[in-house]
Amino acid sequence: SLGQNVIVIVPGANLLLNFEDLKRASDVICKAKVVVCQLEITPAVSLEALKMARASGVKTLFNPAPALADLDPQFYTHSDIFCCNETEAEILTGVPVGNLEDAEKVGHMLLERGCKLVIVTLGAEGCMMISGEEPIPKHIPAGKVRAVDTTGAGDSFVGALAFYLAYYPKLPMEEMIRKSNRVASVSVQASGTQSSYPYRKDLPQDLF
Ligand code: ADP
Repeated sequence: SLGQNVIVIVPGANLLLNFEDLKRASDVICKAKVVVCQLEITPAVSLEALKMARASGVKTLFNPAPALADLDPQFYTHSDIFCCNETEAEILTGVPVGNLEDAEKVGHMLLERGCKLVIVTLGAEGCMMISGEEPIPKHIPAGKVRAVDTTGAGDSFVGALAFYLAYYPKLPMEEMIRKSNRVASVSVQASGTQSSYPYRKDLPQDLF
């Protein structure tokens, strides 16, 4: 390849996950600290998982990937944190996101749809956050690194954020996001996705 990403999606097994499976997992879901959903399983099943979590007071983190232009509006009202990248934000709002100003604009639009907090990730620029409590958008830059392969950076960011929400729930949100930027920026410095996800032992200890 010429350095471009090639992502092959084989959804077979994911699409077999159904409401029955969810019911069987309800105990785990309802006792969790945080539930993360995205759109690689049937969207209606993802939405039901968010609803189950909400009903038990479990924090919900939703990543609308791969993006759907006609996303069920209940995804917004059932997301404590709605975290998307620029492409996803554009598909959801119809507004192209090419800079921080655009990200702030789509952040507002998504917030108004009913989530509590919106994060738009901006690749090397880090991300933008906006919340109902603090409706002034905030840019949280990522450190400068030599990026080798950014495939999976968004997943790395979301995974790190879920970790902080579960294990360090008292950290200020901005601090969690700053740390998640750092974890994701480590993931882009090696090629591959799974193989480049940093292990705890390989990360700076101040991330914990
Ligand atoms: P996706 O993988 O969904 O396209 P992004 O490209 O927005 O998501 O990246 C997600 C996060 O990964 C960013 O918010 C940032 O923290 C980190 N990241 C991505 N690319 C870089 C980069 N070139 N340098 C530093 N951090 C990066």
